[in-house]
This record gives sequence, structure tokens and C-alpha cells, in this order.
Amino acid sequence: MAHEATVAGGPTKLVIRNIGLLLSGVIENPILDADTVVAVNGRITAIGRYKDLDTDGATSLVDAHGSVMAPGLIDSHVHPVSGDWTPRQNQMNWIDSSLHGGVTTMISAGEVHQPGRPRDIVGLKAHAITAQRTFENFRCSGVKLHAGAPVIEPGMTELDFKELAEAGVKLLGEVGLGGVKDGAGARQMVAWARKYGIQSTIHTGGPSIPGSGLIGADVVLEADTDVIGHINGGHTALPDREIRCICEGCGRGLELVHNGNERSALFTLRTARDMGQLERVILGTDSPAGSGVQPLGIIRMVSMLSSLGDVPAEQAFCFATGNTARMRELDTGLIEVGRAADFVFMDKAQHSAGKDFLESIQLGDLPGIGMTIIDGIIRTGRSRNTPPAEKVPEVIL
Ligand SMILES: [Zn+2]
Repeated sequence: MAHEATVAGGPTKLVIRNIGLLLSGVIENPILDADTVVAVNGRITAIGRYKDLDTDGATSLVDAHGSVMAPGLIDSHVHPVSGDWTPRQNQMNWIDSSLHGGVTTMISAGEVHQPGRPRDIVGLKAHAITAQRTFENFRCSGVKLHAGAPVIEPGMTELDFKELAEAGVKLLGEVGLGGVKDGAGARQMVAWARKYGIQSTIHTGGPSIPGSGLIGADVVLEADTDVIGHINGGHTALPDREIRCICEGCGRGLELVHNGNERSALFTLRTARDMGQLERVILGTDSPAGSGVQPLGIIRMVSMLSSLGDVPAEQAFCFATGNTARMRELDTGLIEVGRAADFVFMDKAQHSAGKDFLESIQLGDLPGIGMTIIDGIIRTGRSRNTPPAEKVPEVIL
């Protein structure tokens, strides 16, 4: 609460020093040569060496004690309902638990777990606008949850998308979870959404739960959504040849989720790498899902893809930071001047066989999380959910 009061009371200056390894989120250049980051009023203002930067007048000082700092992780695929409660497992505080897994930003793929979810057009629009407003107005534990993602239904017109956009809706929920399941119909509505600045995603693969359906490569390619939602299935994946067909047949985002088929995720990763297009790979959990809430889902995906997919750990973190930020047009996810000061501090988990942080991830271990910061405000200290880190940052001021 002290930090909140400082924000209300005047300008804030956060100085973070002694960063042992600074991950940028930029897949072309994932490691920065710097040990200090300064943020004023929640935005990054300087990155460099402590001796070279103006660190006077800090209102908050964090000593990273040699730990690793990265942009706060982004979960590209969640299904929120109301505040920090999900009816799917009747669980409280799943968003807070995900923050303890390093996630500072989440993107809704549709508020589809709402009991009694309206499917009539006026109802689904009102529901989406309500979700957008409630998660904008109330951030659970500080996590930035971009919600308000309507699931398209037959009969929607261009005017509906214009109205949604004017009301602040910026996302479509997974195409295919509603009544529009044909490629041509989906393509028209996705194009209308795009015309008004609304991003789209699609449910790829077999049905997730009784009542949802199969979406194959032909429909995915025809619908032409901005993101190929869970291309590794959620849970049931398409055959490899259809996944390859999607990767090669479009330039859209390739989203891999924890609630999917891990072998298919690795197949997609290798296909994207063979094409020289790892910048298209982004990560989600799909939680809450039938497989549960996955508070460590994003770091588990990073570790799985790095270890089994032979991706350097510093690049694998870009799948959950910079790649997603660029694709989703977010002001976070990269360590860059002007970006939101959203950070996660990590280190090698105690007793990992890896010689350092990066090797521990490449060997398949999870990192230990020591702190999270959102908009320049310290949100959590040592994670209650990850294995303990060797090095942990300390709040000096
Ligand atoms: Zn889905």
C-alpha cells in the first residue's frame, strides 16, 4: 500500500541495480549488456551500467543481487470470468497465483466460462463490454488482464463490430466456440473486426469439452485470424500435416498453450524454426481449462520448449514476452525505453543441475521467481509457487 500511496502523491523513480542478467524480450537480441534499469512513473527511462546512469532521487530502490531480470511474462490465452474467481474449478485467486508464476499481463480468448453466457447478439456484446470494463477497472493483484473478447455468432453484421470497437472492445474470443464454425462466415466477421481494430484468435483442433467442435486447417486458414489460437490443440491437436499446412499457409501468430498437446507444440516449434520464423511463436496457458489452473504454465512452457525443443533459454523467454507484445500491440513485454516497467526477477532454482540460470532452463528445470513489478510498483516478493531461487532481489528503499 505504501507504493500505491507514493504513486498518488507524486512522481516516482524506481532504480533497479546489480542485475546479473538482463533479458530483453527481443528475439533477435535477447540479452542486454546492462546491470541497471530506471523507471519514472511506471515507464522505463534508462537502461545501462549503474555508474553511467542518473540514479539520484530514487523513491524506490531494488538491489537485484545478481539475479535475472526479464520483462513480465505475458499469457496470451486465458478465460477469465469475474475478478479473481473462476467457476470452472470454482477456484479463487488463480490470477494472483499466475502472478507468482511471473505473469504480469494476460489476454482473454473469450469469457466463455461465464455461467449462462449470452449467445444472442445484443447479449454477447453487452457481456463483452462488461468484461472489458470490469477487468480494466479492477486489476487482480495488479495483473493487466485484457478482457472483453466476444465469441462471434451467426447474424452479426459489420455494424456490430463497429459498435464493439467504439465501446472499447479490442479482442475477439476464440472463433469456433460460438455458432460460427464455417470458414467463409468466420472470414467475413474477422475482417470486419480487423477493420475496426479488433484482434482475433481461433480455437484450433478438436473439441475442448463436450459442446465445442473440431476446427481443422482449412477453416483456420480461411478464417485468417491474427493469432492461430492453441495450434497445439486445447487439448486435442490436429495431425502434423495440418499443423505444417497452417504454419506454411499464413504469416499469423502461432500460439502454443500449456493446456495442449506437448508433442504438437514441439512439432510447431521445429516447423517455425525451419522456416526461420520463431518470432511468430507466442505462449498461453488456456487456463482455467479442463486441465485446471496452471499458475506456472508459462514458465513450464518456456522450460519445456527450451529443453526438448533445443531453443536457447534467452530466446524461449521471448515467446512469452516480446513476441507476444509485438503481435498483440502491447506497451509491455520488452526492456526498452518508453515501455511499461513490468518485470519479473528470476534465478536458477536451488539445487538445479544447471551451472547457471540459462543452463538450468535448458536442462528442463523451472526458474525460481524472486519478485514481480508492474508499472514500476513492486507487487510480489519471493514466489510462493516456484522452487526457491538461488539469488533473490531485495528492496533497499
Ligand atoms: Zn480453445
